[in-house]
Amino acid sequence: YMGIAMLILSCQQDPKSNYASQNIDAQVQELLAKMTLEEKIGQMNQYSGFMDFTGPEPDKGQAATKLDYIKKGWVGSMLNVHGVENVRAVQKIAVEESRLGIPLIFGFDVIHGYKTISPIPLAEAASWNLEAIKRSAKIAAEEASAAGINWTFAPMVDISRDARWGRVMEGAGEDPFLGSQIAKARINGFQGQDLAASHTIAATAKHFAGYGFAEAGRDYNTVDVGTTTLYNVILPPFKASLEADVKSVMNAFNVLNGIPATGDKFLLRNILKDQWGFQGFVVSDWDSVGEMVNHGYAEDGRDAAKKAVLAGTDMDMESYHFIEQLASLVEDGEVDENLIDDAAGRILKVKFELGLFDDPYKYLSKDRENELVCSPKFKDEVLDIARRSIVLLKNDNDILPLQKSNQKIAIIGDLAQDKTSPLGSWRIAADDGTAESLMEAMQAYEANNTLNYAAGPQLIIGETKFVKELNVNTTDRSGFDEAVRTAKNADVVIMNLGEHGLQSGEARSRTRLGLPGLQQELLEAVYKVNPNIVLVLQNGRPLTLNWADEHIPAIVEAWQLGTFSGSAITQVLYGDYNPSGKLPMSFPRHVGQLPLYYNHLSTGRPNDPNQNDVFRSHYTDEQNTPLYPFGFGLSYTNFIYSNFKVTPLTSSNTIEVTVDVQNSGDMDGTETVQVYIRDLVAQISRPVKELKAFQQVKIKAGESESLSFTLTEEDLGYYLPNGEWIFESGEFEIFLGYNSQDTNSKRIEL
Ligand code: BGC
Repeated sequence: YMGIAMLILSCQQDPKSNYASQNIDAQVQELLAKMTLEEKIGQMNQYSGFMDFTGPEPDKGQAATKLDYIKKGWVGSMLNVHGVENVRAVQKIAVEESRLGIPLIFGFDVIHGYKTISPIPLAEAASWNLEAIKRSAKIAAEEASAAGINWTFAPMVDISRDARWGRVMEGAGEDPFLGSQIAKARINGFQGQDLAASHTIAATAKHFAGYGFAEAGRDYNTVDVGTTTLYNVILPPFKASLEADVKSVMNAFNVLNGIPATGDKFLLRNILKDQWGFQGFVVSDWDSVGEMVNHGYAEDGRDAAKKAVLAGTDMDMESYHFIEQLASLVEDGEVDENLIDDAAGRILKVKFELGLFDDPYKYLSKDRENELVCSPKFKDEVLDIARRSIVLLKNDNDILPLQKSNQKIAIIGDLAQDKTSPLGSWRIAADDGTAESLMEAMQAYEANNTLNYAAGPQLIIGETKFVKELNVNTTDRSGFDEAVRTAKNADVVIMNLGEHGLQSGEARSRTRLGLPGLQQELLEAVYKVNPNIVLVLQNGRPLTLNWADEHIPAIVEAWQLGTFSGSAITQVLYGDYNPSGKLPMSFPRHVGQLPLYYNHLSTGRPNDPNQNDVFRSHYTDEQNTPLYPFGFGLSYTNFIYSNFKVTPLTSSNTIEVTVDVQNSGDMDGTETVQVYIRDLVAQISRPVKELKAFQQVKIKAGESESLSFTLTEEDLGYYLPNGEWIFESGEFEIFLGYNSQDTNSKRIEL
């Protein structure tokens, strides 16, 4: 039957047209029919190569084995091999020396850029600008593809409500709606319109599922969430990723409700593949197949391989268990060969879609690599997304923007001269020192001001490549005097404080979220001699900033903004760019509030702090609210909302929301208007507020814009604990405002 179908199809083809335009499913079947069991399992095996494959002899025994396995057709993919020459050397072995010459697919963690580094994903999320986020992913794909990469392990779409977890830097924050929009934007950016073009790469939605809910924010830790949260909070960004046609999904290290995600049939087969109809392939996380043994879910590597494949994991990243065990599992009748065909077929399909069968070397042009890697042509757009990512948290007395002349400016802080930290986590270690520091950019900026710099104490001590465990904080206060002296006579003091670039990221959980090391002490010491401070924060996660919020007149959240960090911050400080970012994650007052998120349920207790009822749901030593709520961010201008109207259209179960927004200040600016809903009575308790729409508008000083939003059943419905989606008519409260806290609301009935 298949043969006939193919014949008909191939008759209709222009003989010169490429593989990609032909019926890929048929091609995959044809190829599978030629493959031995070992070769099919080989497609499911992914190896990492940290070594230089272009050298005369691979240095380690392991590398030799890997190369030998490629020749045998026992490897389907490599990760961490990049650069045209390296990729070519390895691809050549697969194509020329293996029996069927099936090309490898080369994966890499292109998380926020390859060499031209964009802001960390959490920072980009703060831009709330889907177009800019998409462009950033597009640039990353263009540059990475020029270095031979065909597949990125991004975007991370894990929702997280816990800033202790170091990987919040890699996601889009705490909200499933915003997270879903951003997931789509990133995937569209990476994969483009035409995956077979050589400037686009396949994307990965990760980590499926629940990884962002690690208990106590400790990386890799247990996840225990009910299905209401799973369906309504954790899964939506993955579902959105499928809508954007994401080509792969990575599963996760964690146990979810007792079962390691890598061996979770309910997640991978029932939901992802059957219910959602996912056509791409599932890659494990690094050795997460092997980790099932430690989880106490698999007896040994053989059992782990079996459970992973039965559950629906298609590719094994670097645990070796698939390649070592699957053939005998099939021979012993423990794993059905159809499952192997399905897994290998999914992987081959993406290779066809990428055009690798047309030309396995299509990504491997040395000219393109020379032209595009670190190309200056990316600068404007990457700088633009960096500026858009900055969030103005406080600006009393209009201390910002800075005046451009006759100012004595002191710049204080170790980070201000750090050319590595702005790159954040997930970049190539060899690229340390390639970011523009704040100090450099301030010096280069044309203003008639004098700048004086003092580093103060070192931020961290020891190796910076992999911030050493514990004891990273210096106790050496010898830099204090100079910092205080430098600040004393300045008109304004810019303090650049926060986290070292590697204090957030994978395996970088923290229990303390204040300014690390001696920085808080430094801030207070400087404040004593000169309170006219602009605090420029650089960090990969929400921090606790109570003291700063109480004392420091201006606070700028500048995250880790990538290669052009210095210019982005400087342009905001001088007012050449009016800040427009809004927080994608709540900033707690104290770490003890975590997990903290705006879209929580209501308790059964009225929560009026003025009533002073001891038995209300509260802390005796801290407020419940965040210091800075989700969606919060200021501008140098002011926006006034008026004519907020909500019109229910009961015939179609939709709601029209309209509002006029006026820029009442004297500077052009960009505002992001946010619409939240609450379903007042439902079959299950629904959150007190949920973001369901937003619009970003640029409004000239003094002018107004009328905005309108439409909320449909899709926005108003939700998932029941059994996974069924429903819309219920009834009373809804519609909120519109500047952020998740500062809103007006109206009730309507549908
Ligand atoms: C991370 C993944 C990443 C993989 C490959 C793992 O440790 O959890 O997100 O893609 O390594 O580098």
